[in-house]
Amino acid sequence: MIQTENMPNQISEHIISSIKKIKSELPCGVELLAVSKTHPVEYIEYAYSAGQRLFAENKVQEMTMKHELLPKDIKWHFIGHVQTNKIKLMAPYVSMIHGIDSFKALAEVNKRAAENNRVIDCLLQIHIATEDTKYGFTPYECFDMLNTEDWRSLCNVRLRGVMGMASFTDNMAQVQTEFVWLKQTFYRLRLEYFRDKPTFNIISAGMSHDYEIAIEEGSTMVRIGSAIFGERKYLTQHC
Ligand SMILES: *Cc1c(COP(=O)(O)O)cnc(C)c1O
Repeated sequence: MIQTENMPNQISEHIISSIKKIKSELPCGVELLAVSKTHPVEYIEYAYSAGQRLFAENKVQEMTMKHELLPKDIKWHFIGHVQTNKIKLMAPYVSMIHGIDSFKALAEVNKRAAENNRVIDCLLQIHIATEDTKYGFTPYECFDMLNTEDWRSLCNVRLRGVMGMASFTDNMAQVQTEFVWLKQTFYRLRLEYFRDKPTFNIISAGMSHDYEIAIEEGSTMVRIGSAIFGERKYLTQHC
Protein backbone atom coordinates (compact mmCIF):
# COMPACT_ATOMS: atom_id res chain seq x y z
CA MET A 1 0.00 0.00 0.00
CA ILE A 2 1.38 3.38 -0.94
CA GLN A 3 1.31 5.95 1.85
CA THR A 4 0.05 9.17 0.27
CA GLU A 5 -1.36 10.88 3.36
CA ASN A 6 0.19 11.85 6.65
CA MET A 7 -0.52 9.45 9.46
CA PRO A 8 -3.45 10.59 11.63
CA ASN A 9 -1.26 11.04 14.70
CA GLN A 10 1.09 13.30 12.75
CA ILE A 11 -1.87 15.38 11.66
CA SER A 12 -3.27 15.66 15.16
CA GLU A 13 0.14 16.65 16.55
CA HIS A 14 0.53 19.26 13.82
CA ILE A 15 -2.90 20.76 14.48
CA ILE A 16 -2.48 20.79 18.26
CA SER A 17 1.01 22.29 18.18
CA SER A 18 -0.03 24.93 15.61
CA ILE A 19 -2.97 26.01 17.74
CA LYS A 20 -0.79 26.27 20.83
CA LYS A 21 1.98 28.13 19.03
CA ILE A 22 -0.32 30.66 17.38
CA LYS A 23 -2.26 31.24 20.61
CA SER A 24 0.92 31.79 22.59
CA GLU A 25 2.01 34.45 20.10
CA LEU A 26 -1.25 36.39 19.88
CA PRO A 27 -1.24 39.62 21.86
CA CYS A 28 -3.85 39.85 24.56
CA GLY A 29 -7.16 41.06 23.12
CA VAL A 30 -6.76 39.20 19.82
CA GLU A 31 -8.93 36.12 19.37
CA LEU A 32 -8.12 33.12 17.21
CA LEU A 33 -10.80 31.87 14.85
CA ALA A 34 -9.81 28.45 13.48
CA VAL A 35 -11.03 28.24 9.88
CA SER A 36 -11.98 24.58 9.45
CA LYS A 37 -13.73 24.78 6.06
CA THR A 38 -13.26 21.67 3.88
CA HIS A 39 -11.56 19.78 6.73
CA PRO A 40 -13.07 16.69 8.39
CA VAL A 41 -14.64 16.78 11.85
CA GLU A 42 -11.69 14.81 13.28
CA TYR A 43 -9.42 17.78 12.56
CA ILE A 44 -11.78 20.00 14.49
CA GLU A 45 -11.75 17.51 17.37
CA TYR A 46 -7.94 17.71 17.50
CA ALA A 47 -8.10 21.50 17.69
CA TYR A 48 -10.84 21.22 20.29
CA SER A 49 -8.62 18.98 22.41
CA ALA A 50 -6.05 21.79 22.35
CA GLY A 51 -8.67 24.09 23.89
CA GLN A 52 -9.88 25.80 20.72
CA ARG A 53 -13.58 26.71 20.82
CA LEU A 54 -14.02 29.27 18.01
CA PHE A 55 -14.34 27.79 14.53
CA ALA A 56 -15.28 29.31 11.19
CA GLU A 57 -16.79 27.93 8.01
CA ASN A 58 -17.81 29.50 4.71
CA LYS A 59 -20.54 27.08 3.58
CA VAL A 60 -23.77 26.99 5.56
CA GLN A 61 -24.59 23.30 4.97
CA GLU A 62 -21.08 22.17 5.88
CA MET A 63 -21.07 24.28 9.04
CA THR A 64 -24.51 22.98 10.06
CA MET A 65 -23.45 19.37 9.57
CA LYS A 66 -20.33 19.95 11.70
CA HIS A 67 -22.34 21.82 14.33
CA GLU A 68 -24.62 18.80 14.65
CA LEU A 69 -21.74 16.33 15.03
CA LEU A 70 -19.47 18.27 17.38
CA PRO A 71 -19.60 19.47 21.02
CA LYS A 72 -22.13 22.21 21.67
CA ASP A 73 -19.72 24.57 23.42
CA ILE A 74 -18.10 25.29 20.06
CA LYS A 75 -18.86 28.78 18.77
CA TRP A 76 -19.47 28.76 15.01
CA HIS A 77 -18.63 31.85 12.98
CA PHE A 78 -19.87 32.13 9.41
CA ILE A 79 -17.26 33.81 7.21
CA GLY A 80 -18.68 33.11 3.74
CA HIS A 81 -20.82 35.26 1.50
CA VAL A 82 -24.26 35.66 3.06
CA GLN A 83 -26.92 34.23 0.78
CA THR A 84 -30.34 35.19 2.11
CA ASN A 85 -31.89 31.76 1.40
CA LYS A 86 -29.29 30.00 3.59
CA ILE A 87 -29.58 32.17 6.72
CA LYS A 88 -32.53 30.20 8.09
CA LEU A 89 -30.41 27.06 8.42
CA MET A 90 -27.73 28.64 10.63
CA ALA A 91 -29.92 31.09 12.57
CA PRO A 92 -30.64 28.63 15.43
CA TYR A 93 -27.00 28.30 16.45
CA VAL A 94 -24.55 30.57 14.60
CA SER A 95 -22.45 32.68 16.93
CA MET A 96 -21.34 35.43 14.55
CA ILE A 97 -21.84 36.29 10.87
CA HIS A 98 -18.85 38.13 9.38
CA GLY A 99 -20.00 38.85 5.84
CA ILE A 100 -22.83 41.37 6.12
CA ASP A 101 -22.59 43.55 3.00
CA SER A 102 -26.11 44.80 2.40
CA PHE A 103 -29.12 46.01 4.35
CA LYS A 104 -31.07 43.15 2.81
CA ALA A 105 -28.71 40.56 4.30
CA LEU A 106 -28.82 42.23 7.70
CA ALA A 107 -32.63 42.43 7.65
CA GLU A 108 -32.90 38.77 6.73
CA VAL A 109 -30.54 37.73 9.54
CA ASN A 110 -32.68 39.84 11.88
CA LYS A 111 -35.86 38.11 10.74
CA ARG A 112 -34.44 34.61 11.16
CA ALA A 113 -32.84 35.47 14.50
CA ALA A 114 -36.23 36.73 15.74
CA GLU A 115 -37.87 33.45 14.71
CA ASN A 116 -35.35 31.73 16.99
CA ASN A 117 -35.67 34.27 19.82
CA ARG A 118 -32.03 35.15 19.39
CA VAL A 119 -29.82 38.16 18.86
CA ILE A 120 -27.12 37.33 16.33
CA ASP A 121 -23.78 39.16 16.31
CA CYS A 122 -22.80 40.48 12.88
CA LEU A 123 -19.84 42.21 11.30
CA LEU A 124 -19.96 44.65 8.41
CA GLN A 125 -17.74 43.35 5.65
CA ILE A 126 -15.70 46.17 4.15
CA HIS A 127 -14.16 45.80 0.71
CA ILE A 128 -10.50 46.71 1.18
CA ALA A 129 -8.79 44.62 -1.52
CA THR A 130 -8.02 45.80 -5.03
CA GLU A 131 -9.43 42.60 -6.53
CA ASP A 132 -13.07 43.01 -7.42
CA THR A 133 -13.88 39.37 -6.73
CA LYS A 134 -14.07 40.04 -3.01
CA TYR A 135 -17.44 40.86 -1.47
CA GLY A 136 -18.14 43.69 0.91
CA PHE A 137 -19.35 47.27 1.24
CA THR A 138 -17.18 50.08 0.01
CA PRO A 139 -16.79 52.40 3.01
CA TYR A 140 -19.20 54.81 1.25
CA GLU A 141 -21.89 52.18 0.81
CA CYS A 142 -21.50 51.24 4.43
CA PHE A 143 -21.95 54.85 5.58
CA ASP A 144 -24.97 55.14 3.25
CA MET A 145 -26.62 52.15 4.82
CA LEU A 146 -25.96 53.34 8.35
CA ASN A 147 -27.19 56.85 7.49
CA THR A 148 -30.63 55.52 6.63
CA GLU A 149 -31.11 54.58 10.30
CA ASP A 150 -33.37 51.66 9.25
CA TRP A 151 -30.87 49.26 10.76
CA ARG A 152 -31.51 50.68 14.23
CA SER A 153 -34.94 49.07 14.34
CA LEU A 154 -33.48 45.59 13.78
CA CYS A 155 -33.54 44.31 17.36
CA ASN A 156 -32.36 40.76 16.72
CA VAL A 157 -28.98 41.61 15.25
CA ARG A 158 -26.11 43.30 17.01
CA LEU A 159 -23.41 44.97 14.92
CA ARG A 160 -20.10 44.13 16.55
CA GLY A 161 -17.57 45.64 14.15
CA VAL A 162 -15.99 45.13 10.75
CA MET A 163 -14.43 42.35 8.71
CA GLY A 164 -12.02 42.66 5.81
CA MET A 165 -9.87 40.58 3.49
CA ALA A 166 -6.70 42.08 2.09
CA SER A 167 -5.60 41.51 -1.50
CA PHE A 168 -3.97 38.18 -2.20
CA THR A 169 -0.48 39.46 -3.01
CA ASP A 170 3.13 39.24 -1.88
CA ASN A 171 3.23 43.02 -1.72
CA MET A 172 3.04 43.34 2.05
CA ALA A 173 3.11 47.14 1.93
CA GLN A 174 -0.16 47.03 0.01
CA VAL A 175 -1.64 44.51 2.44
CA GLN A 176 -0.68 46.78 5.30
CA THR A 177 -2.29 49.81 3.59
CA GLU A 178 -5.51 47.84 3.18
CA PHE A 179 -5.59 46.85 6.84
CA VAL A 180 -5.05 50.51 7.74
CA TRP A 181 -8.15 51.40 5.64
CA LEU A 182 -10.12 48.79 7.51
CA LYS A 183 -9.00 50.15 10.86
CA GLN A 184 -9.77 53.74 9.85
CA THR A 185 -13.21 52.72 8.61
CA PHE A 186 -13.85 50.96 11.91
CA TYR A 187 -12.89 54.05 13.93
CA ARG A 188 -15.04 56.35 11.78
CA LEU A 189 -18.05 54.05 12.05
CA ARG A 190 -17.59 53.77 15.79
CA LEU A 191 -17.38 57.50 16.19
CA GLU A 192 -20.39 58.29 14.01
CA TYR A 193 -22.82 55.48 14.75
CA PHE A 194 -21.74 53.38 17.71
CA ARG A 195 -20.48 55.88 20.26
CA ASP A 196 -22.92 54.55 22.82
CA LYS A 197 -22.20 50.90 21.93
CA PRO A 198 -19.04 49.57 23.57
CA THR A 199 -19.81 46.16 22.02
CA PHE A 200 -18.92 47.56 18.59
CA ASN A 201 -15.35 46.46 19.20
CA ILE A 202 -14.29 43.82 16.67
CA ILE A 203 -11.94 44.11 13.72
CA SER A 204 -11.86 40.71 12.00
CA ALA A 205 -8.73 40.76 9.84
CA GLY A 206 -5.81 38.55 8.99
CA MET A 207 -5.46 35.06 7.52
CA SER A 208 -2.58 32.55 7.57
CA HIS A 209 -0.26 34.58 5.36
CA ASP A 210 -0.99 38.08 6.65
CA TYR A 211 -2.27 37.88 10.22
CA GLU A 212 0.87 39.33 11.77
CA ILE A 213 0.45 42.52 9.73
CA ALA A 214 -3.27 42.57 10.50
CA ILE A 215 -2.51 42.45 14.23
CA GLU A 216 -0.04 45.33 13.90
CA GLU A 217 -2.85 47.30 12.26
CA GLY A 218 -5.43 46.68 14.94
CA SER A 219 -7.05 43.30 14.23
CA THR A 220 -8.88 41.85 17.23
CA MET A 221 -9.84 38.56 15.56
CA VAL A 222 -7.65 36.57 13.16
CA ARG A 223 -9.14 33.92 10.87
CA ILE A 224 -6.54 31.20 10.38
CA GLY A 225 -7.05 28.03 8.35
CA SER A 226 -4.11 26.54 6.49
CA ALA A 227 -1.49 27.48 9.09
CA ILE A 228 -3.39 25.22 11.51
CA PHE A 229 -5.01 22.50 9.42
CA GLY A 230 -2.70 22.41 6.39
CA GLU A 231 -3.61 23.03 2.78
CA ARG A 232 -7.22 22.56 1.78
CA LYS A 233 -7.99 19.79 -0.70
CA TYR A 234 -11.05 20.67 -2.68
CA LEU A 235 -12.89 17.63 -3.96
CA THR A 236 -13.24 17.65 -7.73
CA GLN A 237 -16.48 16.58 -9.31
CA HIS A 238 -16.26 13.69 -11.73
CA CYS A 239 -18.92 13.75 -14.40
C1 LIG B 1 -10.58 30.54 4.05
C2 LIG B 1 -10.70 31.85 4.73
C3 LIG B 1 -9.77 32.24 5.71
C4 LIG B 1 -8.56 31.40 6.12
O1 LIG B 1 -7.61 31.36 5.11
P1 LIG B 1 -6.16 30.68 5.35
O2 LIG B 1 -5.32 31.29 4.31
O3 LIG B 1 -6.35 29.22 5.17
O4 LIG B 1 -5.73 31.02 6.72
C5 LIG B 1 -9.97 33.46 6.34
N1 LIG B 1 -11.02 34.25 6.02
C6 LIG B 1 -11.92 33.92 5.09
C7 LIG B 1 -13.05 34.84 4.81
C8 LIG B 1 -11.80 32.71 4.41
O5 LIG B 1 -12.71 32.40 3.48
